[in-house]
Amino acid sequence: MVKKPIRANQNPNSIPKRWYNIVADLPEKVPPLLLPNGRPATASDLKALFPLSLVRQELSKRRFLRIPEELRELYAELGRPTPLFRAKRLESVLKTPARIYYKYEGVLPTGSHKINTAIAQAYYNAQESVKRLTTETGAGQWGSALALAGALFDLKVRVYMVRASYEQKPYRRVLMEIYGAEVIPSPSNRTRYGKKILEKDPNNPGSLGIAISEAIEDALMSQDTKYSLGSVLSYVLLHQTIIGLEARGQMKSLDEYPDYVIGCVGGGSNFAGLMYPFYYESVVKGKHNITFIAVEPRAVPTMTRGVYAYDYGDTAGLTPLLKMSTIGHRFIPPSIHAGGLRYHGVAPTLSILIKHGYVRPVAYHQKEVFEAARIFAISEGIVPAPESAHAVKAAIEIALECRRRNEEKVILFNLSGHGLLDLSGYDAYLRNKLENYEPSSIDTSYLPVAFNSN
Ligand SMILES: *Cc1c(COP(=O)(O)O)cnc(C)c1O
Repeated sequence: MVKKPIRANQNPNSIPKRWYNIVADLPEKVPPLLLPNGRPATASDLKALFPLSLVRQELSKRRFLRIPEELRELYAELGRPTPLFRAKRLESVLKTPARIYYKYEGVLPTGSHKINTAIAQAYYNAQESVKRLTTETGAGQWGSALALAGALFDLKVRVYMVRASYEQKPYRRVLMEIYGAEVIPSPSNRTRYGKKILEKDPNNPGSLGIAISEAIEDALMSQDTKYSLGSVLSYVLLHQTIIGLEARGQMKSLDEYPDYVIGCVGGGSNFAGLMYPFYYESVVKGKHNITFIAVEPRAVPTMTRGVYAYDYGDTAGLTPLLKMSTIGHRFIPPSIHAGGLRYHGVAPTLSILIKHGYVRPVAYHQKEVFEAARIFAISEGIVPAPESAHAVKAAIEIALECRRRNEEKVILFNLSGHGLLDLSGYDAYLRNKLENYEPSSIDTSYLPVAFNSN
Protein backbone atom coordinates (compact mmCIF):
# COMPACT_ATOMS: atom_id res chain seq x y z
CA MET A 1 0.00 0.00 0.00
CA VAL A 2 1.28 3.45 -0.85
CA LYS A 3 1.67 5.54 2.24
CA LYS A 4 0.17 8.95 1.65
CA PRO A 5 0.10 11.87 4.04
CA ILE A 6 -3.26 12.26 5.74
CA ARG A 7 -3.35 15.99 5.20
CA ALA A 8 -2.43 18.20 2.31
CA ASN A 9 0.97 19.82 2.89
CA GLN A 10 1.79 17.46 5.70
CA ASN A 11 5.42 16.68 6.20
CA PRO A 12 5.72 13.34 8.00
CA ASN A 13 8.89 14.54 9.66
CA SER A 14 7.11 17.44 11.30
CA ILE A 15 5.99 15.27 14.23
CA PRO A 16 8.86 15.13 16.74
CA LYS A 17 10.46 11.72 17.27
CA ARG A 18 11.35 12.19 20.95
CA TRP A 19 9.85 13.92 23.95
CA TYR A 20 12.13 16.11 26.06
CA ASN A 21 12.53 15.11 29.72
CA ILE A 22 13.61 18.18 31.70
CA VAL A 23 14.41 16.06 34.76
CA ALA A 24 17.84 15.56 33.18
CA ASP A 25 18.53 19.31 33.15
CA LEU A 26 17.09 20.82 36.31
CA PRO A 27 19.14 22.98 38.70
CA GLU A 28 18.43 20.44 41.46
CA LYS A 29 17.21 16.86 41.72
CA VAL A 30 13.45 16.32 41.78
CA PRO A 31 12.64 15.23 45.35
CA PRO A 32 11.14 11.71 45.31
CA LEU A 33 7.40 11.11 45.61
CA LEU A 34 6.72 10.04 49.19
CA LEU A 35 4.25 7.54 50.59
CA PRO A 36 2.13 8.79 53.52
CA ASN A 37 4.59 7.09 55.92
CA GLY A 38 7.43 9.18 54.50
CA ARG A 39 9.15 6.42 52.52
CA PRO A 40 10.07 7.32 48.90
CA ALA A 41 7.62 5.71 46.48
CA THR A 42 9.18 3.02 44.28
CA ALA A 43 8.10 1.78 40.89
CA SER A 44 6.22 -1.10 42.50
CA ASP A 45 4.29 1.30 44.75
CA LEU A 46 3.24 3.40 41.75
CA LYS A 47 2.30 0.34 39.68
CA ALA A 48 -0.95 0.07 41.62
CA LEU A 49 -2.08 3.30 40.00
CA PHE A 50 -0.29 3.52 36.65
CA PRO A 51 1.02 1.08 34.00
CA LEU A 52 4.70 0.25 34.35
CA SER A 53 5.76 2.09 31.19
CA LEU A 54 4.33 5.35 32.55
CA VAL A 55 5.88 4.72 35.97
CA ARG A 56 9.23 4.31 34.20
CA GLN A 57 8.73 7.59 32.38
CA GLU A 58 7.79 9.26 35.67
CA LEU A 59 11.06 8.11 37.26
CA SER A 60 13.24 8.43 34.16
CA LYS A 61 16.30 10.66 34.17
CA ARG A 62 17.02 10.28 30.45
CA ARG A 63 16.95 13.53 28.53
CA PHE A 64 15.04 12.30 25.48
CA LEU A 65 12.43 9.57 25.34
CA ARG A 66 11.27 8.03 22.08
CA ILE A 67 7.70 8.66 20.93
CA PRO A 68 6.29 5.33 19.69
CA GLU A 69 5.65 5.29 15.94
CA GLU A 70 1.96 4.47 16.44
CA LEU A 71 1.56 7.56 18.59
CA ARG A 72 3.38 9.80 16.12
CA GLU A 73 0.93 8.67 13.45
CA LEU A 74 -2.00 9.28 15.74
CA TYR A 75 -0.72 12.77 16.57
CA ALA A 76 -0.72 13.52 12.86
CA GLU A 77 -4.20 12.06 12.40
CA LEU A 78 -5.58 14.22 15.19
CA GLY A 79 -4.17 17.42 13.70
CA ARG A 80 -0.56 17.78 14.78
CA PRO A 81 1.55 19.69 14.20
CA THR A 82 -0.77 22.40 15.47
CA PRO A 83 -0.42 25.80 13.82
CA LEU A 84 1.85 28.58 14.97
CA PHE A 85 0.26 31.94 14.16
CA ARG A 86 1.54 35.47 14.16
CA ALA A 87 -1.00 37.77 15.83
CA LYS A 88 -0.45 40.64 13.41
CA ARG A 89 -3.83 42.27 13.91
CA LEU A 90 -3.44 42.11 17.66
CA GLU A 91 -0.03 43.77 17.29
CA SER A 92 -1.53 46.64 15.34
CA VAL A 93 -4.47 47.01 17.74
CA LEU A 94 -1.92 47.29 20.56
CA LYS A 95 0.36 49.54 18.45
CA THR A 96 3.31 47.53 19.67
CA PRO A 97 6.67 47.09 17.94
CA ALA A 98 6.76 43.58 19.44
CA ARG A 99 5.99 40.56 17.28
CA ILE A 100 3.46 38.24 18.90
CA TYR A 101 3.21 34.54 18.03
CA TYR A 102 0.96 31.88 19.47
CA LYS A 103 0.87 28.13 19.28
CA TYR A 104 -2.75 27.10 18.88
CA GLU A 105 -3.74 23.81 20.52
CA GLY A 106 -7.48 24.48 20.15
CA VAL A 107 -7.54 22.88 16.68
CA LEU A 108 -7.30 19.41 18.25
CA PRO A 109 -10.53 17.38 18.42
CA THR A 110 -11.50 18.09 22.03
CA GLY A 111 -10.39 21.70 21.78
CA SER A 112 -7.28 21.73 23.97
CA HIS A 113 -3.76 20.38 24.45
CA LYS A 114 -4.98 17.65 26.84
CA ILE A 115 -5.34 15.06 24.07
CA ASN A 116 -1.51 15.06 23.69
CA THR A 117 -1.07 13.15 26.94
CA ALA A 118 -4.47 11.43 26.88
CA ILE A 119 -3.60 9.34 23.81
CA ALA A 120 -0.13 8.56 25.17
CA GLN A 121 -1.60 7.37 28.48
CA ALA A 122 -4.29 5.32 26.73
CA TYR A 123 -1.66 3.79 24.44
CA TYR A 124 0.59 2.59 27.28
CA ASN A 125 -2.35 1.34 29.35
CA ALA A 126 -3.74 -0.62 26.40
CA GLN A 127 -0.30 -2.12 25.76
CA GLU A 128 -0.25 -3.45 29.30
CA SER A 129 -3.73 -4.98 28.92
CA VAL A 130 -5.49 -2.49 31.16
CA LYS A 131 -9.20 -2.54 30.37
CA ARG A 132 -10.55 0.50 32.15
CA LEU A 133 -9.34 3.97 33.16
CA THR A 134 -10.73 6.21 35.88
CA THR A 135 -10.10 9.89 36.11
CA GLU A 136 -11.42 13.20 37.38
CA THR A 137 -12.42 16.29 35.51
CA GLY A 138 -13.32 19.84 36.47
CA ALA A 139 -14.83 21.74 33.61
CA GLY A 140 -14.42 18.66 31.40
CA GLN A 141 -11.46 19.36 29.12
CA TRP A 142 -9.40 16.54 30.55
CA GLY A 143 -12.34 14.16 30.82
CA SER A 144 -13.30 14.66 27.20
CA ALA A 145 -9.70 14.19 26.01
CA LEU A 146 -9.38 10.92 27.93
CA ALA A 147 -12.83 9.82 26.76
CA LEU A 148 -11.72 10.21 23.15
CA ALA A 149 -8.38 8.49 23.85
CA GLY A 150 -10.27 5.60 25.47
CA ALA A 151 -12.46 5.28 22.39
CA LEU A 152 -9.38 5.19 20.14
CA PHE A 153 -7.68 2.45 22.18
CA ASP A 154 -10.77 0.48 23.16
CA LEU A 155 -10.57 1.24 26.88
CA LYS A 156 -13.55 1.90 29.13
CA VAL A 157 -13.34 5.33 30.74
CA ARG A 158 -15.10 6.45 33.90
CA VAL A 159 -14.90 10.14 34.71
CA TYR A 160 -15.67 11.65 38.09
CA MET A 161 -16.80 15.15 37.23
CA VAL A 162 -16.95 17.93 39.83
CA ARG A 163 -20.67 18.11 40.62
CA ALA A 164 -20.96 21.89 40.25
CA SER A 165 -19.65 21.67 36.67
CA TYR A 166 -21.69 18.53 35.95
CA GLU A 167 -24.83 20.47 36.75
CA GLN A 168 -23.92 23.89 35.35
CA LYS A 169 -21.91 22.95 32.28
CA PRO A 170 -23.57 20.01 30.54
CA TYR A 171 -21.87 20.30 27.17
CA ARG A 172 -18.56 18.68 27.99
CA ARG A 173 -20.43 15.91 29.81
CA VAL A 174 -22.30 15.32 26.56
CA LEU A 175 -18.99 15.33 24.67
CA MET A 176 -17.59 12.67 27.02
CA GLU A 177 -20.73 10.59 26.58
CA ILE A 178 -20.52 10.88 22.80
CA TYR A 179 -17.08 9.27 23.04
CA GLY A 180 -18.57 6.51 25.19
CA ALA A 181 -17.30 7.48 28.65
CA GLU A 182 -19.33 7.08 31.80
CA VAL A 183 -19.59 10.39 33.66
CA ILE A 184 -20.40 10.45 37.38
CA PRO A 185 -20.98 13.63 39.37
CA SER A 186 -18.53 13.86 42.27
CA PRO A 187 -18.88 13.52 45.24
CA SER A 188 -20.76 10.32 44.45
CA ASN A 189 -21.92 7.29 46.39
CA ARG A 190 -19.70 5.01 44.26
CA THR A 191 -16.75 5.35 46.61
CA ARG A 192 -16.25 5.27 50.36
CA TYR A 193 -14.73 8.74 50.31
CA GLY A 194 -17.60 10.15 48.24
CA LYS A 195 -20.16 8.58 50.58
CA LYS A 196 -18.41 10.02 53.60
CA ILE A 197 -18.60 13.52 52.16
CA LEU A 198 -22.24 13.16 51.07
CA GLU A 199 -23.25 11.93 54.54
CA LYS A 200 -21.91 15.14 56.05
CA ASP A 201 -23.10 17.41 53.26
CA PRO A 202 -25.54 16.01 50.66
CA ASN A 203 -25.24 19.21 48.59
CA ASN A 204 -21.45 19.32 48.45
CA PRO A 205 -20.57 20.94 45.05
CA GLY A 206 -17.37 18.89 44.77
CA SER A 207 -13.85 19.90 43.84
CA LEU A 208 -11.05 18.61 41.67
CA GLY A 209 -9.27 17.28 44.77
CA ILE A 210 -12.33 15.26 45.85
CA ALA A 211 -12.88 13.91 42.33
CA ILE A 212 -9.24 12.75 42.17
CA SER A 213 -9.70 10.92 45.47
CA GLU A 214 -12.78 9.15 44.12
CA ALA A 215 -11.14 8.20 40.82
CA ILE A 216 -8.12 6.77 42.64
CA GLU A 217 -10.22 4.82 45.11
CA ASP A 218 -12.24 3.40 42.20
CA ALA A 219 -9.08 2.36 40.31
CA LEU A 220 -7.59 0.68 43.39
CA MET A 221 -10.73 -1.44 43.78
CA SER A 222 -10.31 -3.43 40.55
CA GLN A 223 -7.44 -5.36 38.99
CA ASP A 224 -7.93 -4.36 35.36
CA THR A 225 -8.29 -0.64 36.08
CA LYS A 226 -5.73 2.13 36.28
CA TYR A 227 -5.93 5.79 37.12
CA SER A 228 -5.17 8.62 34.72
CA LEU A 229 -4.14 12.16 35.55
CA GLY A 230 -4.23 15.09 33.13
CA SER A 231 -1.50 17.34 34.56
CA VAL A 232 1.13 17.76 37.33
CA LEU A 233 2.99 14.43 36.94
CA SER A 234 6.34 14.47 35.17
CA TYR A 235 5.21 12.07 32.46
CA VAL A 236 2.26 14.32 31.60
CA LEU A 237 4.61 17.29 31.15
CA LEU A 238 6.94 15.04 29.16
CA HIS A 239 4.17 14.17 26.67
CA GLN A 240 3.22 17.83 26.35
CA THR A 241 6.74 18.82 25.26
CA ILE A 242 5.58 17.93 21.76
CA ILE A 243 4.07 21.44 21.77
CA GLY A 244 7.36 23.21 22.38
CA LEU A 245 9.37 20.89 20.15
CA GLU A 246 7.07 21.71 17.25
CA ALA A 247 7.00 25.41 18.11
CA ARG A 248 10.80 25.57 18.21
CA GLY A 249 10.97 24.19 14.67
CA GLN A 250 8.17 26.45 13.49
CA MET A 251 9.81 29.57 14.93
CA LYS A 252 13.09 28.59 13.33
CA SER A 253 11.42 28.14 9.95
CA LEU A 254 10.29 31.78 10.29
CA ASP A 255 13.78 32.78 11.30
CA GLU A 256 12.46 34.00 14.65
CA TYR A 257 13.37 33.30 18.24
CA PRO A 258 11.23 34.25 21.23
CA ASP A 259 12.39 36.67 23.91
CA TYR A 260 9.33 35.76 25.99
CA VAL A 261 7.60 32.38 26.32
CA ILE A 262 4.27 32.55 28.11
CA GLY A 263 1.60 30.09 29.24
CA CYS A 264 -1.20 29.69 31.76
CA VAL A 265 -0.73 27.28 34.65
CA GLY A 266 -3.25 24.96 36.29
CA GLY A 267 -1.01 22.01 37.08
CA GLY A 268 1.59 23.28 34.61
CA SER A 269 1.36 20.90 31.65
CA ASN A 270 0.61 23.22 28.72
CA PHE A 271 3.07 25.86 29.91
CA ALA A 272 5.82 23.31 30.53
CA GLY A 273 4.95 21.67 27.22
CA LEU A 274 5.73 24.87 25.38
CA MET A 275 8.51 26.12 27.64
CA TYR A 276 10.74 23.13 28.38
CA PRO A 277 12.16 22.62 24.86
CA PHE A 278 13.02 26.35 24.80
CA TYR A 279 14.59 26.03 28.26
CA TYR A 280 16.77 23.30 26.81
CA GLU A 281 18.10 25.63 24.12
CA SER A 282 18.28 28.81 26.13
CA VAL A 283 19.37 27.69 29.59
CA VAL A 284 20.97 24.27 29.05
CA LYS A 285 22.72 25.02 25.76
CA GLY A 286 23.07 28.72 26.53
CA LYS A 287 21.99 29.83 23.08
CA HIS A 288 19.49 32.58 23.77
CA ASN A 289 18.12 34.54 26.64
CA ILE A 290 14.40 33.96 27.17
CA THR A 291 12.06 35.24 29.88
CA PHE A 292 9.58 32.51 30.85
CA ILE A 293 6.29 33.75 32.26
CA ALA A 294 3.74 31.48 33.98
CA VAL A 295 0.27 32.92 34.51
CA GLU A 296 -2.31 31.99 37.11
CA PRO A 297 -5.58 33.38 38.49
CA ARG A 298 -5.38 35.62 41.56
CA ALA A 299 -8.19 33.41 42.95
CA VAL A 300 -5.92 30.31 42.97
CA PRO A 301 -2.44 31.71 43.62
CA THR A 302 -0.42 28.49 43.74
CA MET A 303 2.75 30.02 42.30
CA THR A 304 2.63 33.61 43.54
CA ARG A 305 1.52 32.80 47.09
CA GLY A 306 2.25 29.08 47.48
CA VAL A 307 4.85 27.40 49.68
CA TYR A 308 7.36 24.87 48.33
CA ALA A 309 6.46 21.80 50.35
CA TYR A 310 5.40 18.18 50.26
CA ASP A 311 1.65 17.97 49.77
CA TYR A 312 -0.99 15.56 48.55
CA GLY A 313 -2.37 15.78 45.04
CA ASP A 314 -5.95 15.22 46.21
CA THR A 315 -8.23 16.18 49.08
CA ALA A 316 -8.47 12.78 50.79
CA GLY A 317 -4.68 12.27 50.78
CA LEU A 318 -4.67 9.11 48.65
CA THR A 319 -1.93 10.20 46.23
CA PRO A 320 1.76 10.02 47.06
CA LEU A 321 3.13 13.29 48.45
CA LEU A 322 4.71 15.57 45.86
CA LYS A 323 7.13 18.35 46.59
CA MET A 324 5.64 21.33 44.86
CA SER A 325 4.53 24.92 45.09
CA THR A 326 1.18 24.55 46.85
CA ILE A 327 -1.54 26.46 48.64
CA GLY A 328 -2.58 23.27 50.45
CA HIS A 329 -4.77 20.34 49.40
CA ARG A 330 -7.62 21.56 51.59
CA PHE A 331 -7.87 24.83 49.65
CA ILE A 332 -11.26 24.97 47.91
CA PRO A 333 -10.77 27.16 44.85
CA PRO A 334 -13.44 29.81 44.25
CA SER A 335 -15.67 29.08 41.26
CA ILE A 336 -13.84 31.11 38.63
CA HIS A 337 -14.65 30.37 35.00
CA ALA A 338 -11.18 29.05 34.22
CA GLY A 339 -12.07 25.62 35.67
CA GLY A 340 -8.81 24.09 34.48
CA LEU A 341 -6.80 26.44 36.70
CA ARG A 342 -8.63 25.51 39.91
CA TYR A 343 -5.96 23.26 41.39
CA HIS A 344 -3.98 23.71 44.60
CA GLY A 345 -0.51 22.67 43.39
CA VAL A 346 1.98 22.98 40.54
CA ALA A 347 4.03 20.26 38.82
CA PRO A 348 7.21 19.44 40.81
CA THR A 349 9.62 20.22 37.96
CA LEU A 350 7.98 23.58 37.29
CA SER A 351 8.01 24.33 41.02
CA ILE A 352 11.79 23.86 41.04
CA LEU A 353 12.21 26.24 38.10
CA ILE A 354 10.07 28.86 39.84
CA LYS A 355 12.03 28.44 43.08
CA HIS A 356 15.32 28.98 41.23
CA GLY A 357 14.04 32.03 39.39
CA TYR A 358 13.97 30.55 35.87
CA VAL A 359 10.24 31.19 35.60
CA ARG A 360 8.47 34.43 36.49
CA PRO A 361 5.01 33.75 37.92
CA VAL A 362 2.28 36.38 37.53
CA ALA A 363 -1.40 36.42 38.56
CA TYR A 364 -4.43 38.22 37.14
CA HIS A 365 -8.07 38.71 38.08
CA GLN A 366 -10.67 37.08 35.87
CA LYS A 367 -12.23 40.35 34.69
CA GLU A 368 -8.99 41.64 33.19
CA VAL A 369 -8.39 38.18 31.75
CA PHE A 370 -11.73 38.11 29.93
CA GLU A 371 -11.10 41.68 28.77
CA ALA A 372 -7.83 40.54 27.19
CA ALA A 373 -9.57 37.50 25.68
CA ARG A 374 -12.11 39.77 24.05
CA ILE A 375 -9.45 42.02 22.54
CA PHE A 376 -7.79 38.88 21.20
CA ALA A 377 -11.06 37.48 19.81
CA ILE A 378 -11.89 40.72 18.04
CA SER A 379 -8.47 40.98 16.44
CA GLU A 380 -7.55 37.33 15.80
CA GLY A 381 -10.95 35.68 15.49
CA ILE A 382 -10.37 32.89 18.00
CA VAL A 383 -12.28 32.85 21.30
CA PRO A 384 -9.70 31.63 23.84
CA ALA A 385 -10.50 29.16 26.60
CA PRO A 386 -10.77 31.13 29.87
CA GLU A 387 -7.61 29.29 31.02
CA SER A 388 -5.63 30.22 27.92
CA ALA A 389 -6.92 33.78 28.22
CA HIS A 390 -4.55 34.17 31.19
CA ALA A 391 -1.65 33.71 28.79
CA VAL A 392 -3.25 36.16 26.36
CA LYS A 393 -3.45 38.74 29.16
CA ALA A 394 0.23 38.37 30.01
CA ALA A 395 1.25 38.52 26.34
CA ILE A 396 -0.70 41.75 25.90
CA GLU A 397 0.93 43.24 29.01
CA ILE A 398 4.40 42.46 27.66
CA ALA A 399 3.48 43.82 24.23
CA LEU A 400 2.34 47.08 25.83
CA GLU A 401 5.55 47.26 27.82
CA CYS A 402 7.44 46.90 24.53
CA ARG A 403 5.44 49.83 23.17
CA ARG A 404 6.35 52.02 26.14
CA ARG A 405 10.03 51.11 25.77
CA ASN A 406 9.90 51.00 21.98
CA GLU A 407 11.41 47.51 21.97
CA GLU A 408 11.04 45.09 19.10
CA LYS A 409 10.79 41.90 21.15
CA VAL A 410 9.38 38.54 20.09
CA ILE A 411 6.62 37.11 22.25
CA LEU A 412 5.42 33.50 22.03
CA PHE A 413 2.50 32.22 24.04
CA ASN A 414 0.48 29.05 24.23
CA LEU A 415 -3.16 29.30 23.30
CA SER A 416 -3.93 26.00 25.03
CA GLY A 417 -7.56 25.76 23.93
CA HIS A 418 -10.61 27.45 22.47
CA GLY A 419 -13.48 28.76 24.57
CA LEU A 420 -16.48 27.74 22.48
CA LEU A 421 -17.75 25.51 25.28
CA ASP A 422 -17.10 28.22 27.86
CA LEU A 423 -19.43 30.86 26.58
CA SER A 424 -21.27 31.11 29.92
CA GLY A 425 -18.11 32.72 31.32
CA TYR A 426 -18.03 35.20 28.44
CA ASP A 427 -21.73 35.83 28.97
CA ALA A 428 -21.06 36.73 32.60
CA TYR A 429 -18.23 39.00 31.47
CA LEU A 430 -20.35 40.79 28.86
CA ARG A 431 -23.17 41.31 31.36
CA ASN A 432 -20.73 42.61 33.92
CA LYS A 433 -21.51 39.80 36.32
CA LEU A 434 -17.98 38.55 36.91
CA GLU A 435 -16.55 38.62 40.40
CA ASN A 436 -12.89 39.11 41.19
CA TYR A 437 -12.06 36.58 43.87
CA GLU A 438 -8.90 36.68 45.93
CA PRO A 439 -8.26 34.65 49.08
CA SER A 440 -7.33 36.90 51.99
CA SER A 441 -5.14 34.32 53.66
CA ILE A 442 -3.62 31.02 52.62
CA ASP A 443 -3.31 28.40 55.33
CA THR A 444 -0.71 25.69 54.75
CA SER A 445 0.06 25.05 58.42
CA TYR A 446 -1.63 21.63 58.31
CA LEU A 447 0.79 20.26 55.71
CA PRO A 448 2.87 17.32 56.95
CA VAL A 449 5.82 19.39 58.17
CA ALA A 450 7.84 16.33 59.09
CA PHE A 451 8.64 15.89 55.38
CA ASN A 452 9.26 19.55 54.79
CA SER A 453 12.39 20.23 56.79
CA ASN A 454 14.30 21.69 53.82
C1 LIG B 1 -6.64 21.95 31.65
C2 LIG B 1 -6.33 23.17 30.90
C3 LIG B 1 -5.35 24.07 31.36
C4 LIG B 1 -4.63 23.91 32.66
O1 LIG B 1 -3.88 22.75 32.81
P1 LIG B 1 -2.29 22.73 32.66
O2 LIG B 1 -1.90 21.36 33.06
O3 LIG B 1 -1.72 23.77 33.56
O4 LIG B 1 -2.01 23.02 31.24
C5 LIG B 1 -5.06 25.17 30.58
N1 LIG B 1 -5.70 25.40 29.42
C6 LIG B 1 -6.66 24.57 28.95
C7 LIG B 1 -7.34 24.88 27.66
C8 LIG B 1 -6.99 23.41 29.67
O5 LIG B 1 -7.93 22.58 29.21
